[in-house]
Amino acid sequence: MANVIEESKSNRATCRTCREKIDKGVLRFGEETVNTFSSDGGTSYFWHHLACAAGKVPAKVKEALASYTGTVPEREKLDAILAAPPKAAKGAAKAAFPYVERAATGRSKCMSCDEAIEKGTLRVAVEREVDTGSFSTTGPGYLHPACSLEYTKDDDLLEKIKANMPDLAEADLNELAEGLA
Ligand SMILES: [Zn+2]
Ligand SMILES: [Zn+2]
Repeated sequence: MANVIEESKSNRATCRTCREKIDKGVLRFGEETVNTFSSDGGTSYFWHHLACAAGKVPAKVKEALASYTGTVPEREKLDAILAAPPKAAKGAAKAAFPYVERAATGRSKCMSCDEAIEKGTLRVAVEREVDTGSFSTTGPGYLHPACSLEYTKDDDLLEKIKANMPDLAEADLNELAEGLA
């Protein structure tokens, strides 16, 4: 199957990834697909914004880029997505421990002080053994940033989180650093 990258000829196509319209003149990625409605076995394309496709099917986009001779605006951004597709993809690898995130609920408890971690606040996730009764596995254990240094006794905790989360927003990073201090 040949996939293409081209300037959108109209603004009628809809991106198959984000479901938004693809504006005329912007680069789009076409995934060739067999057109089952055509008697001669013709093909048609599923269109995606180039950046959307890069996150969804990076290998195919790389291949199509190799044969695309035009210039790609924001090429660096695109290359960054190709190198590390957004995590939303199904089956994406879980973030490596330790990492930090905002508590989605107020139900998690800090492993150190045993107090609840308030919804929406930053929590540090570290790997811990989980005993299910019949076997033990590992899963995330949560900590208040302020409790995490004492609990992990890991002076490099912040550095490790930074290394695991290169895209962490600076505001979150600052808040985390403050909590750890
Ligand atoms: Zn899109
Ligand atoms: Zn705590």
